[in-house]
Amino acid sequence: MNSVDEAKLIDGRSIATAILARAAANVQRISTETGGQVPALATVIVGDDPASHTYVRMKRKRCEEAGMLSIRVELPQGTTTPQLLDAIHKLAASQTVHGILLQHPVPAPIDRRAAFEAIPIEKDVDGVTSAALGRLLLGMPSLAPCTPRGIMMLLEEHDVDLDGAEATVIGRSPILGRPMASMLINKHATVTLCHSRTRSLSNLVRRADVVIAAVGKPRYVKGTWIKPGAVVIDAGYNPGNIGDVDFDSAIKRASLITPVPGGVGPMTIAVLIEQTVQAAADQLGVSLGTSGGADKSRVG
Ligand code: NAP
Repeated sequence: MNSVDEAKLIDGRSIATAILARAAANVQRISTETGGQVPALATVIVGDDPASHTYVRMKRKRCEEAGMLSIRVELPQGTTTPQLLDAIHKLAASQTVHGILLQHPVPAPIDRRAAFEAIPIEKDVDGVTSAALGRLLLGMPSLAPCTPRGIMMLLEEHDVDLDGAEATVIGRSPILGRPMASMLINKHATVTLCHSRTRSLSNLVRRADVVIAAVGKPRYVKGTWIKPGAVVIDAGYNPGNIGDVDFDSAIKRASLITPVPGGVGPMTIAVLIEQTVQAAADQLGVSLGTSGGADKSRVG
């Protein structure tokens, strides 16, 4: 990669590091102002999927590095929906737990939606409840799904002008594509939301000023689909650290692009930590002001 290409890279790691440093400072502030109370994130994991356990370990590690408490709830494969709901209800009722993260995918036949809905909105630091998603859709301040909020922060950090821009989002999952589309609409982009039934995907990508790939297929989005000068955000994370965008061909046409790894990935955990600190501050009655944790006035 030459120096011109390097200038196009969006460095998610350094932006995430700054968010985590701010979160750590706010943890101290909360502790000082409340006589020693510490923000606490409960992670709930069901079953033994190795990738899910790795993700939860990373989240717990970041939590502890920020000076927060990390509470681990591990339930065995075969846990029933009522058993999972019981565990979440206990965390919901605990005054010393400020955020609850239910790691997904949750193994079948558990009713995943019922489990998410058991999380009270003020502790929904992963933005998975219908209440949080509804607020987001309506452009109301809310905790939000971490990956799309992290992507919005990357765009903001790089002064990407979304007002009137054409944005194409590939993927419509409830944790990524759908909330992403809502956040972009809230910032006045004109959004095309694509999925597996979309016809002529390459043409819809070609007209976009901003492309968000959240499709879950390695190197699926080709460089020839990218409009020269477009901003390309690759949320994909496929085995072998491979994104959903064919990076080598896309960087030739993009004005800005996220690498994989080191682009969107680090932002997801940083936003989770930031939102947990904000949730704790709200529950403990501490104002973090404009240097706050997750800025809950954010509608994008
Ligand atoms: P998902 O739930 O599997 O959703 C994938 C979406 O892509 C679906 O909406 C699907 O359409 C659509 N799709 C599949 N094949 C397509 C095709 N050929 N053309 C157009 N659209 C197609 O995945 P997800 O959870 O949203 O994750 C998406 C990607 O982001 C994955 O690579 C995942 O690993 C990554 N991810 C990264 C982070 C992070 O922190 N970096 C966090 C979460 C996810 P249908 O709805 O029609 O099936």
